[in-house]
Amino acid sequence: MEYTNFDYNECLETAKAFHGDACSGIKIGSRMAIIGLEAIGIADPKGSDRKDFMVYVESDRCASDAILAITGCHPGKRTLKVLNYGKMAAVFVNLKTGKAVRVSSKNKDGDTVTTREMIDREPRGDDYLTSSDEELFDVKEVAVNIPEGELPGKPARIVTCASCGERVMDMRDVTVDGKFYCVPCAFKEQRYYSEKN
Ligand SMILES: [Zn+2]
Ligand SMILES: [Zn+2]
Repeated sequence: MEYTNFDYNECLETAKAFHGDACSGIKIGSRMAIIGLEAIGIADPKGSDRKDFMVYVESDRCASDAILAITGCHPGKRTLKVLNYGKMAAVFVNLKTGKAVRVSSKNKDGDTVTTREMIDREPRGDDYLTSSDEELFDVKEVAVNIPEGELPGKPARIVTCASCGERVMDMRDVTVDGKFYCVPCAFKEQRYYSEKN
């Protein structure tokens, strides 16, 4: 694999150091990161270009660690958004030019369901060293509408939840009858935790 601004093996080492090993997901994610950065014209992601782009990843598995490690984007900087659709895909957005590109892993099997036993039988790691970008990935230009509340930088406003009294940043609040609520108070039945008494 030859890329203009990145060396695959160097990137793989960076991703491996962050993740702990170079599993298949790290190999795939490393290539996705390089392809995405090149496609949106980012050559120095951790240096002069670091404030000029964002990445959305569509799973919370290994590949996302590679993308984080190579792009330098991460959630605390608000430059990496993890949308867990369970998909091997990521969208790279150049905030200066507006160009956005989605890189997704091609479905080479076409199986409707691949079980864990099938996955165990066919380790795929080497495909990601020998196959071309075109064989492995779809790369498509997309349009991304990034709400103000999701951009890096200081919060536009902070409100206090009328129910729990906790503060809510980044327009994640919900207005009901003119009052501000946090999401867990507004949609109590959907909370991921329940309180113990
Ligand atoms: Zn892994
Ligand atoms: Zn609340």
